[in-house]
Amino acid sequence: MNGRNPKADDAVGLGTRAVWSGERGERWAGATQVSVALSVSFGYATVEEWLDVAQGRRRGHIYSRNTNPTVAAFEEKVGDLEDAEAATGFSSGMAAVSNTLFTLLSPGDRVVSIKDTYGGTNKLFVEFLPRFQIEVSLCDTTDHVAIEAAVARGCKLLYLESPTNPTVKIVDIARLSAVAHAHGSLVVVDNTLATPVNQQPLKLGADLVVHSATKFLGGHADALGGAVCGRKDLVSRIYHFREINGACLEPMSAYLLLRGMKTLHLRVRQQNESALRIAQFLESHPAVAKVFYPGLATHENHDVACRQMTGFGGVLSFALHGGFEAVKRFLPRLCYANLAANLGAVETVAGPPATTSHVESTPEERAASGIPDALIRHSTGIEDTADLIADLRQALDSLEGGATSET
Ligand SMILES: *Cc1c(COP(=O)(O)O)cnc(C)c1O
Repeated sequence: MNGRNPKADDAVGLGTRAVWSGERGERWAGATQVSVALSVSFGYATVEEWLDVAQGRRRGHIYSRNTNPTVAAFEEKVGDLEDAEAATGFSSGMAAVSNTLFTLLSPGDRVVSIKDTYGGTNKLFVEFLPRFQIEVSLCDTTDHVAIEAAVARGCKLLYLESPTNPTVKIVDIARLSAVAHAHGSLVVVDNTLATPVNQQPLKLGADLVVHSATKFLGGHADALGGAVCGRKDLVSRIYHFREINGACLEPMSAYLLLRGMKTLHLRVRQQNESALRIAQFLESHPAVAKVFYPGLATHENHDVACRQMTGFGGVLSFALHGGFEAVKRFLPRLCYANLAANLGAVETVAGPPATTSHVESTPEERAASGIPDALIRHSTGIEDTADLIADLRQALDSLEGGATSET
């Protein structure tokens, strides 16, 4: 786990932090880049020195399931980007989410969340937590009054995600955090889709932020990882559970994620800009039934998005006329998109929720979450915007003849 003085870098811009945070540790032979410390253990010349490190009187590492220098650099960078007191890394985003929930919740506790959380997170809520006598209350995602009422009935933890995946709904983090705190509840926000470039939940009142670093933070779809950032006392407890259950981040993955994060601000700015222009283009195309993107004035929570985000992110979704048959014909026609399950990469990625965010859910669960059958999730890459729009246009135009008018 990495703790930092939250005041130290407040004046420094996010781009500078993306490049420099976590990069100032000791280096072998003066290397300018963070080394990949694959070593499982760290040796000491004397027992006194070893004890000092083991008992926390001196900085250092003992065993890589607990701490590791490359992973520590990753934790420092993520923590700095979220302006957090502390951060700890995980083997995946789901490891970060499940370690957070299983550390903070005990039998008899109640957790309130929304119906539109990430598919894996939803599985924790509906399948695993109830087995431990943890009561889960899932509210309609945009019904803030219902969420507030559920919190007021008493809860240990309010778990939010914004924007959500795949219909990019927006929840008002500041409003719900204030209500949760008034009722003595902790607030956790999954900030994977927004990234700290577009949204900083801790500044909006959240106690903890979780990330799937696999997505935008890493940005290159070549390493799995996760992180929890926020209040030091809470992060310490979650770190302690992780060192025991062993969901630690691999040093090689930590290195790849660190390298990816150096360009986070540049990638996300480009993705914000392209996604908005693509959403506007899709809204004007006759083969498209509906477009979901928080940057569009037609989005039901556009006003909240404008208040709490500085950019609207690289993920949008849209429904085609012609149902799932149209989706099957449309997707293979795209030249510049991986038809795959990830998001947040430098390459554009497209796919239906049935095979991506909600692969773990049944068709009934997807319908209950309001996910249309003909939906396509589009994670905009960093390609030239004009090429991405031209690619979507040719694929949509080719549908026109065969498309039926039902949605
Ligand atoms: C992908 C994702 C996760 C899970 O992350 P993994 O790294 O795949 O375990 C959690 N939350 C959101 C919003 C995601 O997109």
